[in-house]
Amino acid sequence: LSFVTVHGSVNSHTAILARTMSIPALIGTDIPLTDAIDGKLGIVDGRNGCIYVDPDEDTLSKMQQLKQEEQEKKELLQTLKGRENITIDGKKIMLYANIGNSKDLAAVLQNDAGGIGLFRSEFLYLERETFPTEEEQFQIYRTVAETMAGKPVIIRTLDIGADKKCDYFEMEPEENPAMGCRAIRICLTRPEIFKTQLRALYRASAYGQIAIMFPMIISVKEVKQIKVIIEEVKEELREAQIPFREDVELGIMIETPAAVMMSRELAKEVDFFSVGTNDLTQYTLAIDRQNQKLDAFYDPHHPAVLAMIRMAAENAHAEGKWIGICGELGADLELTEEFLSMGLDELSVSPAMVLPLRKKIRESK
Ligand code: PEP
Ligand code: MG
Repeated sequence: LSFVTVHGSVNSHTAILARTMSIPALIGTDIPLTDAIDGKLGIVDGRNGCIYVDPDEDTLSKMQQLKQEEQEKKELLQTLKGRENITIDGKKIMLYANIGNSKDLAAVLQNDAGGIGLFRSEFLYLERETFPTEEEQFQIYRTVAETMAGKPVIIRTLDIGADKKCDYFEMEPEENPAMGCRAIRICLTRPEIFKTQLRALYRASAYGQIAIMFPMIISVKEVKQIKVIIEEVKEELREAQIPFREDVELGIMIETPAAVMMSRELAKEVDFFSVGTNDLTQYTLAIDRQNQKLDAFYDPHHPAVLAMIRMAAENAHAEGKWIGICGELGADLELTEEFLSMGLDELSVSPAMVLPLRKKIRESK
């Protein structure tokens, strides 16, 4: 129903997955870890960060009332299903959902997302003890593509590293894992792992509207290296007469300041950008997103972060490419109007945020 932790940060993947799955969660609380609360009823209020242990009758009925009101608000939002994501003065925006695995698809459909803007494929690797085979991955990507029935499904290649550690990758311990061998850096240094995933993705492309996105990019050189590997994968599939789509869209995450600064050049190489504001904030502000003590300094509304998004958007558009946001900031209703004014083409958010965001867009100019 919910969970409460003493450690961790609201920007960690545990918190992000809780949002994806609509589980009320309190992270980094000072709840006492003693037997005193064992077996007692607890009410978690995710809106104001309170937990009520062993509540009295009054609190219980007040909270039940609040729960009822929340439910009614949700039901009201259901009337927005099937409606366009269009502002009062006619600007349209694509509104997609983020998922961590195929079990999240039900929530995506229930909330009427226009597609999947970020499938964090590394969770396929994290939930097991050995590398997923090409066939296993293919089946999952195919299921997602088919379930979305022709709607776009943007699958991010594995972003292992930092807080997403996977023992069987046998990575050497690092002093500074957030700046270490993670994501595309693993893929480019261990191409056998990368190629297995790319083969599975290209095979699945025959069954829906799959696009592939690469995390933690810092240079044009990396994108060119990726393209060489993709060509090898395509050639192998052609030779084996395995069907795939030749024109799978390729995009990159904009989540490092380097990618922002190089965004004009990078835009010439790819079909789209998706801004990873969680990491972009971490690397722009030099604040470890995992460090709970720094949550007060971790300001995703920082003007430097917003200027970075604006710059990437201008450069994407200058090259005729589209740009979205798939980091948590995309769901921040206080910034929706600013994102619209930057001309962002897409926002991808946790499934439960799709309808509230549609409401906000429809009320914006
Ligand atoms: C991001 O960095 O904003 C992002 C979407 O990727 P992740 O949170 O998985 O690092
Ligand atoms: Mg990231």
